[in-house]
Amino acid sequence: MSRIVFVGSRPVLETGNSSLELPSGGRLEEALGAARLAASRVNVEVRGQDGALVDVHVLADVDIEVVESSGLEVLPLRAAWRDLEPDDFRIVGTARQKADWVLTHRFCSRCAAPTTLDPETEGLRCSECSQVHYPRVAPAVIVLVQRGREALLGRSPRFPEGVYSTLAGFVEPGETLEECVHREIEEESGVRVQNLRYFGSQPHPFPHSLMVGFIADWLEGDLCIDPTELADAQWFDVDELPLRPHPRSIAFRLIADFEQRVRG
Ligand SMILES: [Zn+2]
Repeated sequence: MSRIVFVGSRPVLETGNSSLELPSGGRLEEALGAARLAASRVNVEVRGQDGALVDVHVLADVDIEVVESSGLEVLPLRAAWRDLEPDDFRIVGTARQKADWVLTHRFCSRCAAPTTLDPETEGLRCSECSQVHYPRVAPAVIVLVQRGREALLGRSPRFPEGVYSTLAGFVEPGETLEECVHREIEEESGVRVQNLRYFGSQPHPFPHSLMVGFIADWLEGDLCIDPTELADAQWFDVDELPLRPHPRSIAFRLIADFEQRVRG
C-alpha cells in the first residue's frame, strides 16, 4: 500500500475474496488518474504497517461511477471499520482523522492567517502568530458495570434494534478518566460504582475519539435512566445477554470478557 484515497469522507476500497481490502497504489492510479491524485494529495504524515509513508488523497468532486466502473468501491468509513483487516483499518482511520484536521484547520483560529504543516512538531503552524495547532483527540470512557452474574448494558436510540452495549461518555476538561467513569455511569443510569479496573483502549475515528475501557463493580443505587442519553438500560444475567455491538468494538470485547470471568 502506498496511498489511501477518500472521496469526501469515504475511503476507496476493493472487495477481495471474502472481505474488503485496500487497493494497491497502482490500482488507484489506474482508476483515478495520476493528475487527479497529484492534485488531491493532503500533506499529512501517515505510515503503513511496514512503517513506510502513505500518501493520503481527498477528492471532493469525483464522479462515483468513474471509480466504481474500475471495480473499486466508495464506502462509508463504518464499512471499512467492519470489514477491513483491523491493522489496515487503523491506517485508514488515522489517515481520515489527520486529513480532516488539515483540511479544516487551514487558517489559524487565533488570528485567521494561513497555517502550514510544521515537520518538527507535526502540528499546523500559523504563518503570522506562530501558534501551533494539533489534531484533536477526544477521550471517552466505556464501562462494563458488573453486579455478580449481571452486567449493566444500555441502548441508544441510534443502535440497531435489540442491540445493547456498555455505557460510555466523553471526558470533560479537568477530569480524570476515573472521575469520568463515576460521573457518566451515575448520570446515565443512576447507579454508583466502585473498584475500577483498566481494560484496554481503542482509537475510534468517528470522528476523533479514543475509547478507554474499564470494568467496574456496582456499589449502590437502582436504575434510573437519563432519557436524553439512553432509550433503555437493564441488568442482564450472563445467561440472558442481548444482541451485542459489532465484534470489532471494544464494547464487544468487554462483554465477552465479562462472560468469561463469570463462567470461569
Ligand atoms: Zn495565528
